[in-house]
Amino acid sequence: MENLRINGDRLWESLMEMAKIGATPKGGVCRLALTDLDKQGRDLFVRWCEEAGCEVTVDQVGNIFARRPGRDPALPAIMTGSHLDTQPTGGKFDGIFGVLAGLEVVRTLNDYGHQTDAPVEIVVWTNEEGSRFSPAMMGSGAYAGVFTLDEVRAKADVEGKRFGDELRRIGYEGPAPVGGRAASAYFEAHIEQGPILEAEKKTIGVVTGAQGQRWYEITVTGQEAHAGPTPMARRKDALVGAARMIDAVNKIGHKHQPNACATVGHVQVSPNSRNTIPGKVFFTVDFRHPDDAKLTAMHEDLHAACREIARASGVEVEVKDFWYFPPTPFDPKLVAAVREGAERHGYSHRDIISGAGHDAVYMAKVAPTAMIFVPCEDGISHNEIENAKAEDLAAGCNVLLHAILAHAHRS
Ligand SMILES: [Zn+2]
Repeated sequence: MENLRINGDRLWESLMEMAKIGATPKGGVCRLALTDLDKQGRDLFVRWCEEAGCEVTVDQVGNIFARRPGRDPALPAIMTGSHLDTQPTGGKFDGIFGVLAGLEVVRTLNDYGHQTDAPVEIVVWTNEEGSRFSPAMMGSGAYAGVFTLDEVRAKADVEGKRFGDELRRIGYEGPAPVGGRAASAYFEAHIEQGPILEAEKKTIGVVTGAQGQRWYEITVTGQEAHAGPTPMARRKDALVGAARMIDAVNKIGHKHQPNACATVGHVQVSPNSRNTIPGKVFFTVDFRHPDDAKLTAMHEDLHAACREIARASGVEVEVKDFWYFPPTPFDPKLVAAVREGAERHGYSHRDIISGAGHDAVYMAKVAPTAMIFVPCEDGISHNEIENAKAEDLAAGCNVLLHAILAHAHRS
């Protein structure tokens, strides 16, 4: 394989150009899905792709596919991309890097006059962030058959504006059916959104998969009573029971290291009065692990701990299994191509698990998929101060180029 290299300056300039659309005073970006600004971002991307000789197709949920033809139109495409929408106080790189890295790969292939056998397609997925229209990863989810077209169209924002109407309003309700494009690989480059690569001074995260998740809603019921006349021994304090359970959740997280995450992020106490013993507590639990067997063990530990603590604390507990998303291992061959790309270019790298959801997680349902992570400053994202180094972004893009070329030719 030829040793092609992307143009890091051009990639950076494109990122900065795109970041002007919806730029915030603090240096971030606010470009919510299906707003006028989203349209402007999409228009710029489409113009760039057409200038690069790509054929642009838009599907019925507004996903954009920019195709650089291959020598053999019958071959399935190599797809790469991410999203252009941001959080209300978002940054310049989350999602946008993956899209513009794809564009930079195409521009590089053009520079070298390099013809691939298979077509290369850059994808922009609609509404990845889920900030204006919930849930997140809607475009890729619809593409993978997780949501129906009608379901997506009917979603409304807080003002009651419907997804379908807003998509039509900005001119991105395309004619193409949702899903089913022939693809033999999907690669997504993304900033890590966590602190590991930076802390370990690694340039490339070889993403081996995404964590599985289990969410719970727990209600602890005791008995409300006066905080003065009720002796300690006679109390059924729902908050004391819940506090012990929350401590157990944290211990379960530590017990299943490495890679387990266990969080209680929301608690409601009733009646929440300083001189009444709490009669009811509601709290949520978020468990994550890349290994399904470990996630199941955490699940069993939680149920056992809650039962035991409730008995010992004289309260009742109801543990509701709220949501389950199984771990998504990425395609071993594609993951190997990412690792090999890092090695070939002499970039330091480590295997890593994605802690956040990405379009790649839904794409993995319908095509062999892998991801490439690059470090971001202090691991911070979903924040206007989100930042990444030009050289790391260029490195991630070179790895993407390598991985695409490794799959775009008949062997
Ligand atoms: Zn993202």
